[in-house]
Amino acid sequence: MAIEFDLIARIRARAGTRGDVVLGIGDDAALLQPPEGMQLVVTMDALNAGVHFPHGTAPADIGWKALAVNLSDLAAMGARPAWCTLSLSLPEGDARLVDALLDGFLALAAEHHVALVGGDTTRGPLSLCVAAHGFVEPGRALRRDGARVGDDVWVTGTPGDAAGALAALQAGAAVERALRARLDRPQPRVAAGRALSGLATACIDVSDGLLADLGHVCTASGAGAVVELAALPASPALARFRPEMRWPWQACGGDDYELCFTAPPEHREAIAQALAGAGVPAARIGRIEDGRGVRALRPDGSAWTPAVPGYRHFQDPASPL
Ligand code: ADP
Ligand code: MG
Repeated sequence: MAIEFDLIARIRARAGTRGDVVLGIGDDAALLQPPEGMQLVVTMDALNAGVHFPHGTAPADIGWKALAVNLSDLAAMGARPAWCTLSLSLPEGDARLVDALLDGFLALAAEHHVALVGGDTTRGPLSLCVAAHGFVEPGRALRRDGARVGDDVWVTGTPGDAAGALAALQAGAAVERALRARLDRPQPRVAAGRALSGLATACIDVSDGLLADLGHVCTASGAGAVVELAALPASPALARFRPEMRWPWQACGGDDYELCFTAPPEHREAIAQALAGAGVPAARIGRIEDGRGVRALRPDGSAWTPAVPGYRHFQDPASPL
């Protein structure tokens, strides 16, 4: 057992820094120097044991994911991440647990040159509450409210993998390594978000399910959308399942942290190039239309209604699918 100050000293020793951190961990607050002329983008997300990760998840994966979900929000705004803070609630002052959480957290932070500049350490049920800060050029943030009728709807990567992995885990089945990694170590699409800034009309990260999150874009933009299930990109692991089996994962599964975005058809070529430059695959899956809500169509054009539309915290906490 370690006391709080020892734990903070351990964290401080590993936190890393950057040139724009005037004062990091150790004072009453951090002192940070944002770049001239940039807008500050701020987000916060908590990960709680039993709600956001199954009991028994490796601590390093929990640490990774706690930062990943925040960097994903910055990505969805088209922002460049810079700093983060970490509020840690721990059942006991277990230094080994803190070290293991930091292994994942700081590995992802290093990949994105993000400095951990402060936080809080308290006793309680295991929970990691992270805030992340980034920058975007004025007027170039990717918001939810910019989709226009006639825009294409796009998605990066292969949504549904995390939900497929979770379904297999819950069924007690073996989970392919690549699929498990999509659940435990999501890769925030930061480079894609930066590449899309100025090209996409609206953007959201898929945390609660593609149709549900696209629904948020539609609501904010005052429009509707149609999604062609046949156009949803499937990873090799998911492609082995019957379409009717995988559609719920692809269209409604959360936790993939891909980006769903809209853009006018004139931008197709530019978007393909920008994303190729960022090394991120993307597919056109539908379009924005007049009306409200999101319609999903089977390959034969008939309407498809999912059994569960997307993850909701206060509706059915027992089933994250
Ligand atoms: P205070 O009582 O002034 O809030 P704390 O003892 O909570 O001071 O924190 C001391 C320093 O350690 C602060 O700079 C704070 O940001 C940092 N800190 C505390 N916990 C964490 C943590 N889990 N991760 C990163 N920095 C932390
Ligand atoms: Mg404090």
